[in-house]
Amino acid sequence: MSKMRAAQITRPKGPIEIVEREIPQPGAGWVRIKVEACGVCHSDAMTKEGLWPGIEYPRVPGHEIAGVIDAVGTTVVGWTLGQRVGVGWHGGHCGYCDSCRRGDFVTCQIALQVPGIAYDGGYAEYMIAPASALASIPEGLSALDAGPLMCAGVTTFNSLRNSGARPGDVVAVLGIGGLGHLGVQFAAKMGFKTVAIARGMDKEPLARKLGAFSYIDSKAQDPAAELLKLGGAKVVLATVTNGDAMSAVLGGLGVNGKLVILGAAAEPLQVAGIPLLLGRRSILGWPSGSSIDSQDTLAFSNLTGVRAMNEIFPLERAAEAYEHMMSGKARFRAVLTTGR
Ligand SMILES: [Zn+2]
Ligand SMILES: [Zn+2]
Repeated sequence: MSKMRAAQITRPKGPIEIVEREIPQPGAGWVRIKVEACGVCHSDAMTKEGLWPGIEYPRVPGHEIAGVIDAVGTTVVGWTLGQRVGVGWHGGHCGYCDSCRRGDFVTCQIALQVPGIAYDGGYAEYMIAPASALASIPEGLSALDAGPLMCAGVTTFNSLRNSGARPGDVVAVLGIGGLGHLGVQFAAKMGFKTVAIARGMDKEPLARKLGAFSYIDSKAQDPAAELLKLGGAKVVLATVTNGDAMSAVLGGLGVNGKLVILGAAAEPLQVAGIPLLLGRRSILGWPSGSSIDSQDTLAFSNLTGVRAMNEIFPLERAAEAYEHMMSGKARFRAVLTTGR
């Protein structure tokens, strides 16, 4: 049997270990992907720390996958050998629950299949995925470009394009990290008056380079007051994982303004009810998107030049890449490469 290298976790909170495994075979409806790159996402902690119920170990993490189809299972139509594809958080769905029947696959109630959680993901030289989870990668994007767009990219792109904000509206991105540095680019390219909010001044030059019209230092300034000076935000895209930082921007929402939560905050938010109801303001979350949303993200990024800024690690250093991402020091996305 032919073998491959993979980075796996054998138990919750266990280490990420490089092992040799048999190359998986795709069953009916699935394809095998020769992985070229896989982004390291904060949500990989679900697998690493055992935070998601029902994970079967050993498990290979990774849901920001980019590579090439190298085997096609029976009954697969529309995808061919050698095609460049990505797989993201939406890695398949049941097809028969109420959400799926409404075409809302990423909120599948029965069997949302997330790579690296429901089945082995992209921290490996090969992985298999349902054809329904595939996104086509345009020619102009490298695998290293495409990988981080499959979760961080589609989450920011898809939440912004469905936020109701219109060109010229004030849209703030809270947090300039793995998600936020993409959020600022997408917001600017979509024609929003884009405001970046982060702690300290060191990220201002980068935020402006990425397309921010204005920068708010939330350490020195009151972000809510600063947003109101700009007329109030139509949307604040919250990419931080800090509940207090999210609470602090709520007062900066304009009429009909929305706080869109993308970062998994550990603490609850402090919310005053009256400003919400008087100004029809709202707070909502957004769960990335389905495979066609990922494909739209790749196409838009190819068209407009949006790119993740990546720190590249070979697959052998997956454990180090994960720790680097979790430390918050990655500038701005850690991506594994198989060297293929
Ligand atoms: Zn992710
Ligand atoms: Zn379903």
